[in-house]
Amino acid sequence: ARKKLTKLKRTPAVTIDGTPVALLANIEFPDDCTAALENGATGIGLFRSEFLFMGRSGNVSRIPGEEEQFEAYKKAVTLMKGRPVTIRTLDIGADKPIGTPESSTLNPALGRRAIRYCLAEPELFLVQLRAILRASAFGPVKLLVPMLVHAFEIDQTLALIEQAKTQLREANRKFDENIKVGAMVEVPAAILGLPMFTSRLDFISIGTNDLIQYTLAIDRVDPEVAYLYNPLHPAILSMLSMTIWAADKAGIPVSVCGEVAGDPHLTRLLLGMGLREFSMHPAQLLNVKQEVLSSDLKILKPKVENILALVEEEAIEKAVHDLQLDDM
Ligand code: PEP
Ligand code: MG
Repeated sequence: ARKKLTKLKRTPAVTIDGTPVALLANIEFPDDCTAALENGATGIGLFRSEFLFMGRSGNVSRIPGEEEQFEAYKKAVTLMKGRPVTIRTLDIGADKPIGTPESSTLNPALGRRAIRYCLAEPELFLVQLRAILRASAFGPVKLLVPMLVHAFEIDQTLALIEQAKTQLREANRKFDENIKVGAMVEVPAAILGLPMFTSRLDFISIGTNDLIQYTLAIDRVDPEVAYLYNPLHPAILSMLSMTIWAADKAGIPVSVCGEVAGDPHLTRLLLGMGLREFSMHPAQLLNVKQEVLSSDLKILKPKVENILALVEEEAIEKAVHDLQLDDM
């Protein structure tokens, strides 16, 4: 089956009814772009920049300077040869510990993580923003910001991006003046308050790993509650379909970059909800493409609407399973 899949590498991801679907890769290091391209990625949907900051212990303890970060981002942009590269700003804390005493608070997932940390350390954040902006002179780059919840956090972030741009102009550095800025939507409050995001930003990306953690109140790295981690909980399906619908209505591109996007058993469900952009581990790209190629949206849509009306996890699981079996 693997051999047949590799043949799909250059096949455009289009549904039977002719709808194009973007299949992008999640990466941790610039060199991962090779695997992304080998599996036919049409861009990078999530570059987890925090991996550049991690030491051998797996803690975020190494602070690369502007030049080192710039070289890493530029390398990814260059390797992708004109395809878009979405770089997420530092997402540390919780499951990616900072390696300082404050990272051992009782509830790190609810603590000063991700954008909260960056807004508290604006000098560190500006270094990263300048490095990302400078890389945007070498190909299409998008800036993605994790864990935003409040409008003032979005506004502070946008103000810091403007400040980084001013600093670069003063230093005669080139960058994309119109760089697109988007938010990870990964907290229920962001979904229930989505207009705060769609009115300020260029795109959104749903982080289902954290969204499931925060919606179902289960630590995503705690094996004792792993049995409760279910992307097919009706609350999660509501969140996903609500977000995709609201983003469409606002005219803002929306993608999913959590693990859900790379699960071929969920591809048809997401397509039926209206999702047209998936970002995943490179190893999943061709499996998901195969699902896209064999799906007909005209048939899928009403079926997925019926699934969204179901309220029992078991019934949803069965219906999603049956969706897979349909020959379209
Ligand atoms: C997510 O939360 O779904 C996500 C894509 O980001 P991370 O897994 O890095 O938290
Ligand atoms: Mg996340």
